[in-house]
Amino acid sequence: MTRYIFITGGVVSSLGKGLASAALGALLQARGYSVRLRKLDPYLNVDPGTMSPTQHGEVYVTDDGAETDLDLGHYERFTGVSSRQSDNVTTGRIYQEILAKERRGDYLGGTVQVIPHVTNAIKEFVLNETEGTDFILCEIGGTVGDIESLPFLEAIRQLGNDLPRGQTAYIHATLVPFIKAAGELKTKPTQHSVKELRSIGIQPDILLCRAEREIPAHEQRKIALFCNVRESAVIQGLDCSSIYEVPLAYHEEGLDREVLSIFGIESPPEPDLSRWREIHGRISSPEGTVKIAIVGKYTDLQDAYKSLGEALVHGGMANQVKVELQWIESETFEQPDAVQRLEGVDGILVPGGFGERGSEGKIAAATFARKKNVPYFGICFGMQMAVIEAARNLAGLPDASSTEFGSCNDPVVGLMTEWSDGNSLQTRGMDDDKGGTMRLGQYQCQLQQGSKVNQVYANGADDSTSGSMMISERHRHRYEVNINYREKLEAVGLHFSGLSPDGSLPEIVELKDHPWFIGVQFHPELKSKPFEPHPLFASFIAAAVDQMRMV
Ligand code: GLN
Repeated sequence: MTRYIFITGGVVSSLGKGLASAALGALLQARGYSVRLRKLDPYLNVDPGTMSPTQHGEVYVTDDGAETDLDLGHYERFTGVSSRQSDNVTTGRIYQEILAKERRGDYLGGTVQVIPHVTNAIKEFVLNETEGTDFILCEIGGTVGDIESLPFLEAIRQLGNDLPRGQTAYIHATLVPFIKAAGELKTKPTQHSVKELRSIGIQPDILLCRAEREIPAHEQRKIALFCNVRESAVIQGLDCSSIYEVPLAYHEEGLDREVLSIFGIESPPEPDLSRWREIHGRISSPEGTVKIAIVGKYTDLQDAYKSLGEALVHGGMANQVKVELQWIESETFEQPDAVQRLEGVDGILVPGGFGERGSEGKIAAATFARKKNVPYFGICFGMQMAVIEAARNLAGLPDASSTEFGSCNDPVVGLMTEWSDGNSLQTRGMDDDKGGTMRLGQYQCQLQQGSKVNQVYANGADDSTSGSMMISERHRHRYEVNINYREKLEAVGLHFSGLSPDGSLPEIVELKDHPWFIGVQFHPELKSKPFEPHPLFASFIAAAVDQMRMV
């Protein structure tokens, strides 16, 4: 039997609803249940793929090539369950499907309406591909009271009646602010938010009350009384020093016990939280700090690099060090000598990005890392910039560039117009739609025996015994490093150490005579987990630790 937990939010956004959902998923898992997490996003974009990272944060890519909300990254990092296309939907996608049906005449002349057509499509999405899963946790984006989210709330309300009794639970996350002038925590916003939710027919079973101070017992009782929930169902959520403490903190507050009791599971299996305790221990007792500079373009909003920041933290955990991140806007390196600012960092990371602005600054950062022997990690765009750097400054091709910035004499990075995706041939043109047309999702890559990356993926094992490995990583890009420049670049020390299985697409480059200089065309940060740090991040931070010790 599959049970459904719906998580809504009230009062303000950014309450950590996604994290709370992920943490609850992890807690249910720790008790032996299987879980899947889903996100319903009320905005009109078909997916977040075309939205600016500085507005919406990172676009999280799944193995099956969906461009999804960054909360799916939290879900995966906390539960290890790979997300799928079917785990994230937006109003835009629901309408796109309904309107396509309407045009085909599938509604046989009927009037197409929000209720029942839109709500039915939302319900179908929630109930789809759930076989064999004990708990589906379904988070509704936005805040109760938004016009946009009404159809979603109506759909989950209906599900409470459609599904057998005792198979659904509703959790509402709210804020209990502390008013300095009064010296008090205030429960009124929570009361209003629940009133709003009840006015559309949803009585929450549990309230997750985010607060910056302890909510005294009498205030918790008051919330319970005015919001019509049990006292034990008022769960306080205090800020934690690390997001990986959140599962333990919610467990202490009794969240998982309360959830199970709503489903009538009064004596559930004891949770095994050893994984989370170990992670907590590793974070709270670092044996040093390494400084990593992230030379990017969307540095104003750190959510734009959510998975990247987390993967670096995981790399730190693998080496028992704290990772201090310095976010640097790459354009600043376009001033003469500005790049000297990188003096003293233990590692330089150039992340994914789009468009010409700031690219010369990223190339300057790659030059600095190459010449000064500082560990360099180029991810997607960061790999492409490292290739341009080597072409210009080592291979003597001063006009080398990417066709993403316009035509050039030496297109060392160019648009791929055709590539094979398993059995099918994919094509793409300069003027294609922007949405959903990149090389997206999981693709294989053959590592070259004897290369640094082969050793990294073999977890430091002796490369000669491990053979050449085939790995699989997630992609999201339109341009590719041009294989025709392989010979010229390898002659000057930039090795193509990972290629697509057919040998046509460079996936990884590395500098031979450098302590750690690796560029990857994919996004390894998307698959890193606190309990399974990605080998590239673990190895990059290890190299940064060596660098720190040398200085
Ligand atoms: N803009 C580059 C491309 O489309 C890199 C994309 C990325 O870094 N994700 O290929």
